[in-house]
Amino acid sequence: MAGIPEVITRVEMLFSKFPGIGRKSARRIAFYLMNREREDVIAIAKALVDLKDKITHCPICNHITEQTPCDICGNPKRDDSILCVVEDSMDVIALEKSVSFRGKYHVLGGLISPLDGVGPDDLAIDALFRRLEPVKEVIIAINPSVEGDTTTFYLSRLLKDYPLKVTRLARGIPVGGDLEYTDEATLARALEGRLEIPNE
Ligand SMILES: [Zn+2]
Repeated sequence: MAGIPEVITRVEMLFSKFPGIGRKSARRIAFYLMNREREDVIAIAKALVDLKDKITHCPICNHITEQTPCDICGNPKRDDSILCVVEDSMDVIALEKSVSFRGKYHVLGGLISPLDGVGPDDLAIDALFRRLEPVKEVIIAINPSVEGDTTTFYLSRLLKDYPLKVTRLARGIPVGGDLEYTDEATLARALEGRLEIPNE
């Protein structure tokens, strides 16, 4: 574009791909960075690279972590007998903020979505079934949506063959809403009032 140095356009293009960032905001970010001290910009760039280099997935629960196992799996005070199954790591962070949960998590890494070509094999479902040995209750804490309900149905059918209780969050989470956008009190109530999925 005339009057704009190429490097600014390039930064703009990159930032405009971020979630929730439009072209105008991307330009403001580019100008903001241009006006910062060089070492500040290097610190930002390094933090971004660290996101890729330092974050890995916990080999037990699949949650994002800098060490293995993650601090939740590695905490002996957490209850091994209750496992909360979630779609992604942002849900773990949201549920951890609600404080009422002292069990452990299992992060699926997505939801079953035939339209998007995501099947059970693309998710950490095998890993879930490999760790059921000490588990007495599985809480399926998946957002209510078409994919969420498909995944919940799939998991609860397979879990019927195991001697454990399967529950889901109580109503209160908006349909199609994300756990991460649900306020802490609502999340705590949904967890507290969780309902058993009958083993028929
Ligand atoms: Zn873990």
